[in-house]
Amino acid sequence: MNMIDLRSDTVTQPTPEMRAAMANAPVGDDVYGEDPTVNQLQADAAALFGKEAGLFVASGSMGNLTSVLAHTRRGDEIIIGKKSHIFLYEAGSAAMYGGVQPSTLPYVRDGMMDIHQIRHAIRPDDEHDPITRLIAIENTAGVSGAPLSVEYTQQVAAVARENGLKLHIDGARIFNAAAALNVSVKELTMGADSVTFCLSKGLCAPVGSVIVGSKDFIKQAHRVRKSLGGGMRQAGILAAAGLIALHEMSKRLHEDHVNARRLAEGLAALPCVDLDLEQVKTNMIFFRLRPDAPMSADAFSERMKTEYNILIMPYPGETGLLRAVTHYWIKPDDVERVIEAARAVLLPAPVSD
Ligand SMILES: *Cc1c(COP(=O)(O)O)cnc(C)c1O
Repeated sequence: MNMIDLRSDTVTQPTPEMRAAMANAPVGDDVYGEDPTVNQLQADAAALFGKEAGLFVASGSMGNLTSVLAHTRRGDEIIIGKKSHIFLYEAGSAAMYGGVQPSTLPYVRDGMMDIHQIRHAIRPDDEHDPITRLIAIENTAGVSGAPLSVEYTQQVAAVARENGLKLHIDGARIFNAAAALNVSVKELTMGADSVTFCLSKGLCAPVGSVIVGSKDFIKQAHRVRKSLGGGMRQAGILAAAGLIALHEMSKRLHEDHVNARRLAEGLAALPCVDLDLEQVKTNMIFFRLRPDAPMSADAFSERMKTEYNILIMPYPGETGLLRAVTHYWIKPDDVERVIEAARAVLLPAPVSD
């Protein structure tokens, strides 16, 4: 029984086409700017997002940190979501390396901070206050997988612009958002001063993220990347997979969304599963087991693993919450197998005598 890994779309192995492209990639020393494959990835990413320039980095976290450091100075404040990846899951790097202080706001819904609360959080020009420098939003929002709309992004961009602030989009899964909303990533990131997106999640590349922004911003980010030890040499080996991720894998994400919906419907139909189908908008499903379920979320996850070779993650920090994420290697047949397994685990056949 092959393993079905629904813990995250980060578990995606590179495709055979990626492995072939990696083996054959033309490369050079990227610290000298001489890697043609990295240069192409950066240029293609910039073009796709309608920005002037791009920069290849090792990870999404490095892309966010590099962007924050390039936008800010020590003692500055950044406005971010209380449940954002930057605030929760990046080891406090903006504070650690940048001396940057977060001003966190709750999500009013679907990964959106309230526009009025954002306005209100911007500091006055007063020597008692830190300087607000940056707003960062996350698309899709990791808490729910919900895409932020073009309209919402434009509203945040307008607040940033009116107040002389920068806007960064943590677009780890921005292509999922674009697929779900049926808009281009260019429209979705208009008005952003910087965007980071991951090649190594649903897009299947083994390693890497790209930052895009203006020429001046990328020049500064390049310096920051070097200072973080992120100047890589023949990185075209990685960028070759990134080019396939960018141009080909980005176009099939709706398949993952269809699979997620089917999985969510199958699970929601089980009597002891609490799952809001309205919340399933991209490739992520969140659910809980009802109090009358025959087991805890942890026990469910464990039994799915040991008895059916299916990995579903109890979501860290939220007792009882389970998350399943669909991706390239999850096919419609796998979805059916997961639903059947969940049914068998949660609704044991009545014992006959
Ligand atoms: C995964 C993720 C990141 C960080 O990416 P890594 O490559 O794992 O460092 C940043 N933001 C969001 C929303 C993510 O989901």
